[in-house]
Amino acid sequence: MKTFMPTYKSYDELAEIQLKGLQWTVNHAYNGSEVYRAKLDRAGVKPEDIKSLDDLRRLPFTTAKELAEGYPFPLLCVPMSDVVRIHASSGTTGKRKVLCYTQKDIDDWVHFFARCYEMADLTSEDRVQICVGYGVWTAGAGFQLGCERFGAMAVPAGPGNLEMQMEFLVDFRSTVMCCTASMGLLLAEEVQKRGLGDKLALKKMIYGSERSSDSMRARIKDGLGLTDMYDIPGMTELYGPGTGLECRAHDGMHYWADYYILEIVDPETLEPVPEGQVGEMVVTTLKKEAVPLIRYRTRDLTAIKPGPCACGRLIPRHDRILGRSDDMFIFRAVNVYPGQIDSVLSGLQGIGSEYQVVLERGADGKDSMLVRVERAAGGDPASDAQIQATVTEALKRKLLVTPAVEIADYASLPRSERKTRRVFDNRD
Ligand code: ZN
Repeated sequence: MKTFMPTYKSYDELAEIQLKGLQWTVNHAYNGSEVYRAKLDRAGVKPEDIKSLDDLRRLPFTTAKELAEGYPFPLLCVPMSDVVRIHASSGTTGKRKVLCYTQKDIDDWVHFFARCYEMADLTSEDRVQICVGYGVWTAGAGFQLGCERFGAMAVPAGPGNLEMQMEFLVDFRSTVMCCTASMGLLLAEEVQKRGLGDKLALKKMIYGSERSSDSMRARIKDGLGLTDMYDIPGMTELYGPGTGLECRAHDGMHYWADYYILEIVDPETLEPVPEGQVGEMVVTTLKKEAVPLIRYRTRDLTAIKPGPCACGRLIPRHDRILGRSDDMFIFRAVNVYPGQIDSVLSGLQGIGSEYQVVLERGADGKDSMLVRVERAAGGDPASDAQIQATVTEALKRKLLVTPAVEIADYASLPRSERKTRRVFDNRD
């Protein structure tokens, strides 16, 4: 079978590919976009100044604000006649970002998306039920075209509609499900409820676009009888989903370093953080034509995984997305990322995978934080007090602040097919 894996044979060779791509990108952006040219001129950098990968640090950052300000077609570096598609992202700040693609951009995206399916060890026998949004908000098109390029069978089911998803799973004998983790959990619970487990051929899930805890993934895996699950990263600004994938070793996500350079910087100082330390993802594209990104600040938090992967592949890795700087809230002068709460709860026994955080400001001006956690399925309410104490202690240790903890009945917290809202900040 055809391979979509990178062609370089060493990290030195990868660095050569990256330097060539960086030089091409800076030159292309400088000559293609007045906005980029003005930015680079202000920074005192000309395309010919990029002589090594270290020169990346001389380049100015690009922000989501700049994409929003250039509405409708920001940072465009090719003539409009070369644009074959647009996708948009609503963005957490509410301002819409529209990204243009040339045919080559689409081809590149499809190629590395096919690589995702190869990374997940699919074959042309697989049937891939794509249960994500289609249309201007990316996702679906990438999942589908990548699947077809790879050579598996796509079932373009679209999002939601649990009833139809169940029917397709049974009738078409889909072997792979692509969806959000929230949707995966809904499916798993429904399959259990209806006792459909032995009617499914489902083996794998590729899930993404939101945080998920270990216990949530375990519930999905058990509920659907999966052999494996793969976390998929991606954002509209950087083509869309599929810019990397977990491998079977599940120790971070391999990312496609032959298509973009990843830097991890301290969000405050913008200086690179040491390898392995959490910071903001900053990406620079190497081949993107319509809207190349130069040091684009993604607001996603992650860390580089140091050392080689157990799978033996020569493809660098980053950690799961550990939250967004936008999701961060400040409680009693401490920065709290919901991802930290996820990771604490997923390591504890006796509780379910769902939780809510409620922040209130009292009449005395003091802030309070309540973490509502579900009792595990079949758990005994008589143990609530003990579980509550354990959860409180574990959160206190990780977050360095002490929240109130409340144990709720199993399945009493809302689940949704799309991203589940978990933090309710009622202060001010
Ligand atoms: Zn690996």
